[in-house]
Amino acid sequence: MLILISDAFDKSLPGRLAQLGEVTSDHQRLAEAEVVLIRSKTKCTKEYIDSAPKLRLVIRGGVGMDNIDRAHAKEKGIEATNTPEASSVAVAELAMALMLAVPNHIVAGHTSMSQGKWLKKELERTELYRKTLGLLGVGRIGREVAKRAAAFGMTVIAHDPYVKSCDVAELAVLDQVLARSDYLSLHMPLSDETKSMLNADTLGRTKKGVIIVNTGRAKCVDEAAMAKALESGQVRAYATDVWYSDPPPPDCPLLKAPNVLMAPHIGASTGENLSRIGDIVVEKIREYVAKKK
Ligand code: NAD
Repeated sequence: MLILISDAFDKSLPGRLAQLGEVTSDHQRLAEAEVVLIRSKTKCTKEYIDSAPKLRLVIRGGVGMDNIDRAHAKEKGIEATNTPEASSVAVAELAMALMLAVPNHIVAGHTSMSQGKWLKKELERTELYRKTLGLLGVGRIGREVAKRAAAFGMTVIAHDPYVKSCDVAELAVLDQVLARSDYLSLHMPLSDETKSMLNADTLGRTKKGVIIVNTGRAKCVDEAAMAKALESGQVRAYATDVWYSDPPPPDCPLLKAPNVLMAPHIGASTGENLSRIGDIVVEKIREYVAKKK
């Protein structure tokens, strides 16, 4: 059995999987692979699946399976699975880091000092304490963010049409969350319903000067509308880890918009999380091998 490790995983994984099959990271050997391990870089499209006639199991290390054509995989008898439980703390900590970096001017303070400037008076900070955080989506990651924000003294409210009760946030309809939040943090999946959920209309209904953090999915936000909202000051800052494509193309409107804080899709990339994902992957392949016997 050939196991193809297609994207970046914990360095110990090839050694741990060696007892279960032959392990390679050579993409040229896709046609021989029975198991493929991907994260977000590899797109497991219809064409990809059709070039892998021996493929039986695809494991996405991470949350969401929007980079797998699941209908086509099912048709071909290929099992597709992921490791949604592993990444919550890693992503929640990045959301908090971005939420703290904006009002504390971490980037401007550092960059200006490295240019020989001393902007002590100019860089007046604001606090998270007693501000309202609105979560869009209060699943695994949203809940971890809610707990951390509460420790900072924030009031946490959330819009999530599929959650009926919540012990870490006050649930509210979308319009209420948009109108009341000083900070918005996105934690819903990408779906037909959530695509461009923040657009010219909904951004116009936010509190003026809102700070928006996106560690969810880029396409939940209409980038062109966000760039305009940043230019007008309706949105004070947009801190994002996620992009329409990795990396964003040079004409991405956010690259030139004011007050954007950028991260190169590193939400899940902690050493601890890669190790947790590795443990789950080994377990899933072990189960797959046992089922075959
Ligand atoms: P989850 O499934 O536990 O939670 C998602 C929540 O979104 C659910 O409670 C669901 O009811 C809610 N939701 C669905 N449709 C909604 C809508 N229309 N409006 C509001 N809420 C809605 O998933 P999770 O583990 O918390 O992950 C959340 C998202 O984070 C993932 O789908 C993925 O897009 C993203 N993510 C990003 C990174 C990264 O590297 N930045 C890493 C992992 C996950």
